[in-house]
Amino acid sequence: MTTLEKMARLAAGSSFDSVGPASGHALDLAKVEALGRGTKYDLCTSSAARREREEGLASALRGGLCHSFTGSGRCVSLFKTLYTNACPHDCGYCPNASTSAKKRIFSYSPEELARITLDLYQENRIEGLFLSSGIGRDENETMEEMIEAVRLLRTAHHFRGYVHLKILPGSSKEHVRQAMELADRVSVNLEGPSAARMAELCPSKEYENDILARQRYIRDLSRDLALPAGQTTQMVVGAAGETDREIFDRMLIEYDILNLKRVYFSAFTPLAGTAFEDRKKAPAWREHRLYQIDWLRRVYKLDEGEIAAAFDDDGFLRNSDPKVEIARASLEEPVDPNGASFAELIRVPGIGPKTARRILICRKNSRIERMGDLAKLGVAARRAGPFLKVGGKAGATLDRWGA
Ligand code: SF4
Repeated sequence: MTTLEKMARLAAGSSFDSVGPASGHALDLAKVEALGRGTKYDLCTSSAARREREEGLASALRGGLCHSFTGSGRCVSLFKTLYTNACPHDCGYCPNASTSAKKRIFSYSPEELARITLDLYQENRIEGLFLSSGIGRDENETMEEMIEAVRLLRTAHHFRGYVHLKILPGSSKEHVRQAMELADRVSVNLEGPSAARMAELCPSKEYENDILARQRYIRDLSRDLALPAGQTTQMVVGAAGETDREIFDRMLIEYDILNLKRVYFSAFTPLAGTAFEDRKKAPAWREHRLYQIDWLRRVYKLDEGEIAAAFDDDGFLRNSDPKVEIARASLEEPVDPNGASFAELIRVPGIGPKTARRILICRKNSRIERMGDLAKLGVAARRAGPFLKVGGKAGATLDRWGA
C-alpha cells in the first residue's frame, strides 16, 4: 500500500513542471499528511471501511490512498484528501470541527492540489482523486476552489482519471452543477438519518436545507448531466443514539426517492479532542450488519416488510446474519430447488443471484437430488441446508429453521 507519508514525499519530490509556472515550489509535507489524514471518515467504498475497521486506527492514519469503483465497476486507486481542514461547523465526532481541540489549519490552492494529483497520476501512483473538505471560510468559496482544482486537471491538463468530489453542505446549485460536469461521482454527507439526529450530531447544520436540498439538486441535474458513477452519501452509525431501523428507513429514501448509487456507513469511534470523545464506540459489527441489509435491499431486492424481520423490538439489528433471520421469519416450509422460482431461491441463506441462475439452468436438464449437486453449483450447503428440501428430505438437523 502506498502510505500517506510516501505519497507526501512523492508529491514533494515532483518538480510540477507539467502544471503551471510554480516549478520547484516547496511542498509542505505536514500539510499533505494532515489533509490526507483528515479524510479518515470520508468513505468511498464499503471495503475501505472494512479494511480500516479490520486494520484499526494505525491503518487509517497511514491512509492517503483509497479504492473506489467507477461507473463500469472497475476498482481504481485514488489520492484521498481534504482541500482544507478549516471548518466553522460543530459536528461532535469530527476533529476538523470548530469545537474540537485546536489544530493547525491547512489549505491547498487549486493549482497546488492539481499539481500534486497530476504528478502522482503521471507516476502511476493513483488513478484518480477523492476530494473532500471542511467548509473553510465559506462553503461557496471553498467549493469554487475545489471545482477550480478539478477544472485545471480536466481542461488545462486533460486529466482523464476518476474524480469523486464532495459537495459541501449548503453549496449553491450552480456549484453543484459545475462539480457534476467535472466529476465521475459526487456526494453529500448525510451523517444522520433525520433532522432530529442531525441536531444531535451537528447543531450548526440544517438537515433539510444544507443536505437534503443539495441531494435533490444532484438528482434533478442528473437528468441532463452525465455522472458516470452517480451520487453517494454516508452516515455515522451509533454517535447520536439512532436505531438501525432509522438508518434503514433513511436508506430506503436515499435509494428509492433520491436515486442514490450507494449509501455508506461508518461506525462511530470517539476521537480525543472532539466534543464526542467520551461517548461510547459503536461496535464494528453494527456497520457490517447494515451493509448486509443494504445488500439484501439493493441487490436481492427484498422488500421493506421482509427486511423488517431482521430488527429487534427496539429497532436494532442483531449480531447475526440478517438473511438467516429473515428466512427464519418468512419461509413457511423448506424450499424445493427443483420447483422454486428465482425469487424464492435467492431468499435461501447460502444462495445468491449467480447460484440461483445456475440452479435454474441445471434443472432444465436434470433433477437436483442431492445437496452435493447444489454444492457443485455454488450453494453454501451448511447455511442453505436447513432451508432446503432435496431428494424428498427437508433439512432435518434443526428444529424448524434452526435456533
Ligand atoms: S462539516 Fe462537520 S464533518 Fe465536515 S469537516 Fe466540518 S465539522 Fe467536520
